[in-house]
Amino acid sequence: MNSTISITPWLNGKRWVYSITFDEALVELHRFAVPILAEHKVPGHIEAVAGHLGVVRQIGQSSYNGFHHMSGPQMREMLAMGWGVGNHSWSHLGVNAETADLELGKAKEVLEDAIGEAITVYCSCGDNTNMNPGALAACKKFGYLGAMSITDALNRPDDDDLLWMNRTFLHEQGYGPFFSAFDPFRNIALAKRDNGWIIDYCHCPLEKAVHPNKDCSEAHLRERIETVVSEGGDEVWLARVEDAVDYRYARRHAKIEPKGNGEYEISAPDLPAQVRRRIVTLELPLKTKTVHFDGKPVTIARKNDRALANVEVSSQPRKIRID
Ligand SMILES: [Zn+2]
Repeated sequence: MNSTISITPWLNGKRWVYSITFDEALVELHRFAVPILAEHKVPGHIEAVAGHLGVVRQIGQSSYNGFHHMSGPQMREMLAMGWGVGNHSWSHLGVNAETADLELGKAKEVLEDAIGEAITVYCSCGDNTNMNPGALAACKKFGYLGAMSITDALNRPDDDDLLWMNRTFLHEQGYGPFFSAFDPFRNIALAKRDNGWIIDYCHCPLEKAVHPNKDCSEAHLRERIETVVSEGGDEVWLARVEDAVDYRYARRHAKIEPKGNGEYEISAPDLPAQVRRRIVTLELPLKTKTVHFDGKPVTIARKNDRALANVEVSSQPRKIRID
């Protein structure tokens, strides 16, 4: 049992996190993805090609040519349903130091104008080539908090570099040269073990997967969402990408100073201004009866053998008193 207070790895003391992304932000998501996620209260995340909003897709040899990119108003509808939006570049071509003003800078402005909200997540297009050092340095410059790669790995609360984010997939088959067949849900066990965060990767699930490495079928999307929800139960945080990003930053920057006699100060002086949700979950000594935050009582959530309370951090120190 802990005798002091600490910040839990994820919001509300959840053990692991699941997010799901849909590259290209296609209107056709309304056929299967949107209703399946809504049924299970899983928020999705669309990655929009900022230079191609509201038009029929025609980009290189894309498997999704002929599909429809969402417009600004269509993306606002997704936000209203609890989804999030990332920047999937301006052109879906190369993102690097030379092209960053357009691909990351202007794209961010245009998307923010289209949806009326800040964009803090960049989603690399193509493969991880567009996660090159020039692109990542520009992400920092333009105020992104996270850059999503395609890397078959979890994200963990204590990752050194919070900007770099892994996206794995709960697909049944991986990329060449191996094209391995594997248990698509193997990362759930790892996430439970390591307080991991799975960011799942899709484009537009239809009756049949459009591309075996980039997508799944409607049936498999249903299976994976049902598996996440049933395996996760009360232990999984079904999070919008931005919300988990914000939590990692708030937790990373929050400092708790014991002042004696059950009093503490919490502050996050270096928390980036772009972090919107600044709530952290405190794990309290089990015998705690009351918590006051800046003099006001805070609700304690009691779960199994844990006592948890949410507080909002700011640059100025705020007082926590536990009795
Ligand atoms: Zn793409």
